[in-house]
Amino acid sequence: MYNYKIKTIATIGPASDKTAVIAELINAGVNVFRLNFSHNTPEYFRHVIKTIRSLSKKLDSGVSIMLDLPGPKLRTGEVSGGVELSRGCVYRLGPGNEIPLPHDVLLAIPKTGILKLSDGKLGLKIIRKTKSYVEARALNSGVLMSNQSVNAAHLSYSSAYPTMHDREGIKFGLKNGIDLFALSFVSSARDVEMARKLTGESSILVSKIERKEAVDNFDDIARASDAIMIARGDLGLNMDIAKVPEIQKRLIASSNALGKPVIVATQMLESMTRGPMPTRAEVNDIFASVYEGADAVMLSEETAISINPVGAFKMLKRVISNFDFKSEKLPTYKVVTIQDAITAAAADIISKLGIREVIILTGEGSGVVNLSRYHRDAKIIALTDKKYVLNKLNLTRDVIPMFFKDLDSGIIQLLSDIRNGGEHNKTAIIIRSTKNGKYINSLELVSI
Ligand code: PGA
Ligand code: MN
Repeated sequence: MYNYKIKTIATIGPASDKTAVIAELINAGVNVFRLNFSHNTPEYFRHVIKTIRSLSKKLDSGVSIMLDLPGPKLRTGEVSGGVELSRGCVYRLGPGNEIPLPHDVLLAIPKTGILKLSDGKLGLKIIRKTKSYVEARALNSGVLMSNQSVNAAHLSYSSAYPTMHDREGIKFGLKNGIDLFALSFVSSARDVEMARKLTGESSILVSKIERKEAVDNFDDIARASDAIMIARGDLGLNMDIAKVPEIQKRLIASSNALGKPVIVATQMLESMTRGPMPTRAEVNDIFASVYEGADAVMLSEETAISINPVGAFKMLKRVISNFDFKSEKLPTYKVVTIQDAITAAAADIISKLGIREVIILTGEGSGVVNLSRYHRDAKIIALTDKKYVLNKLNLTRDVIPMFFKDLDSGIIQLLSDIRNGGEHNKTAIIIRSTKNGKYINSLELVSI
């Protein structure tokens, strides 16, 4: 059974890369698997992709695969055996210093503030910055290994996008049939456009919002992207963490307004990486994200390196399936195009008549996302004649995507399947937003 309400993403890692675990995750309802190109080799990914594809076919699941490209993430340099940091001691960070940093990373670091290394596990208070190093006092003790992340509020760096590593990932992804690319650390719409030049028009691009520039340039980035991921891990290190909840709420609302599917990611069930139960706050966070209007929720370490990846995923599903849609006021979105007007009218009719089935014939899927953002309690069956559109709709709330070579015969088949399935005396809405590759807009009420 295809899971259509709130979409889910599970990250593959050592805890979840075996056939049996992937099969269990698919059976539990994963919509999209994420592969993290920052870790592991092309051989590893090829193997995992093959496993997912063959299981997906066998289990008739229609899961998509997203390759997460590393982007310009700032990292420390190589250290042999690690550097031991003691709380209260002062260290120099820079090229050739006791904590080695590449030159461009040194340049990006601000003159004051807190430096966070290794995903924030180590904190250092910046004392001063010279041309060749930064001096900083350790706020806690720990060992720093090679190539660890560097974060701080007010990092400023411009970087060529996509990076060399991203380019390798795109090449690999295109060759191995990856469905979606996640773009890490984008800072502007131009970054997305540059990536699009390499991926081609029919790849689905998910922009990860995880630095201040991306928050500042959000609307332009969203317009250039197919979908958005609110990457709260790095975002919470690169900006004041206390601002993250408000940013999340605002970016979800903007994504809905712009008609882009939006994913909320990171630490949704972090405590289940190590233990059997989530915290109450985590459960609340998942529910709140969905309530705010997220289309999809994602697990990272919870499925990648967890003691119980399937248990964590099932918990996520339980929380979102308890999301009981309560019809509140119909949201209002700006009506600019005829399509906007049609979907607004459809949402109104769905509410007033209590319609449960919407069938929409779509080209690129934008009409579907436009309708889904009204969050009505109806099933949106989306027929498309473009395979890549299925992947975008695998991130879109309330939608069941279906592929038909010919949409007109597809709809005839679908209606007869519904009738043969014993569904009668119901009203459905049919929306056509495309015919033979041309945009048309019509709305029709039918009884089945
Ligand atoms: P990552 O991205 O897991 O690739 O770092 C997500 C995040 O930063 O939240
Ligand atoms: Mn990140």
